[in-house]
Amino acid sequence: SQVYDILIVGGGPIGIACGLEAKKKGLSYIIIEKGPIVNSLFNYPINMQFFSSSEKLEIDDIPFISKEAKPKRNEALEYYRRIVTSNKLNIHLFEKVTGVQKFQDSFLVETTKDQYHGKNVIVATGFYDLPNKINVPGEDLPKVSHYYKDPHFYASQKLAVIGASNSAIDAALECWRKGAEVTLIIRGPEVGQRVKYWVRPDIINRIEEGSIKAYYNSTVKEITDNTVIIDSPEGSVTLENDFVLALTGYMPNFEFLEQLGIRLSADEKRLPEYDQKTMETNVDGLFLAGVICGGMETHKWFIENSRIHAKIIVKAILDKMQLVEES
Ligand code: FAD
Repeated sequence: SQVYDILIVGGGPIGIACGLEAKKKGLSYIIIEKGPIVNSLFNYPINMQFFSSSEKLEIDDIPFISKEAKPKRNEALEYYRRIVTSNKLNIHLFEKVTGVQKFQDSFLVETTKDQYHGKNVIVATGFYDLPNKINVPGEDLPKVSHYYKDPHFYASQKLAVIGASNSAIDAALECWRKGAEVTLIIRGPEVGQRVKYWVRPDIINRIEEGSIKAYYNSTVKEITDNTVIIDSPEGSVTLENDFVLALTGYMPNFEFLEQLGIRLSADEKRLPEYDQKTMETNVDGLFLAGVICGGMETHKWFIENSRIHAKIIVKAILDKMQLVEES
């Protein structure tokens, strides 16, 4: 069977950028994606607006035109989908990579549908698949979700939003505007400092005027069918509740990285080991691209600063191939 120069795991913006770069440089490649094209973006809240302006989300200088300076989810779906279709990128969708085996100088990638041989592997699997759990009784109740989609669902309902970063604040504001009775439960003393600069004053004003109730320095102790019980500076408080959005961030699939033989730092950051000049990990021929590089520091990498990984990696692979030819 065919031996690809590059097998790319994950069809997010950065996996796609890697495929495009490989194609431009005449390398054989395949992108394997477990969902639709840019699955993470597809699963973002339907009204989500990026914090980056559209030109910073561009790959390979292909213009990204959006209505406002900061594009919406729908516009980003359109942009990345058109990159895939108009460049006829070789991408397999709804096919999950289940394992990667390393041989002397090649890899075998196993998926839910097939298996593929390649000389190099790029892992660009992002961090949106695994939510940071809050680990309290009731977290598995059907009324609790770690993903927020559409505010209409919560209209006229008592909604508790756990978290204080962009996802939580966007959800709290949107749902309140569609008639939900919103309570924010915030572990620290304030709304997150990384909340988009044009959104932060909005939420602070809504809290100060009493439209949205906020408990600071508070944590959830338990969730029941019709309550949320929190530990707050005033002691234990029981809130009446219909739905909970636990938007406390996401993390990379570390188990998958470890299965591939990638070493992770021993501290709580769990940083995967790779050479910053080439993005090659401690496993020869295995590269990391995109936001997965940050380990638990999921705010460190985003599209804007990780899209360059595609060119760095493809160049490193070409350099290696040249060395092999010369030897
Ligand atoms: P992803 O887009 O997550 O792509 C990884 C892909 O791998 C997914 O499609 C996934 O389905 C696939 N995958 C995972 N495991 C497997 C497997 N085993 N087999 C096959 N496929 C697999 N960044 C910005 O630059 N600007 C922003 O404004 C911005 N806003 C954000 C808002 C939200 C709500 C969130 C959660 C993130 C935001 N980010 C933003 C970060 C953004 O998600 C990432 O920058 C971007 O998605 C990273 O691209 P990626 O290709 O590295 O990872």
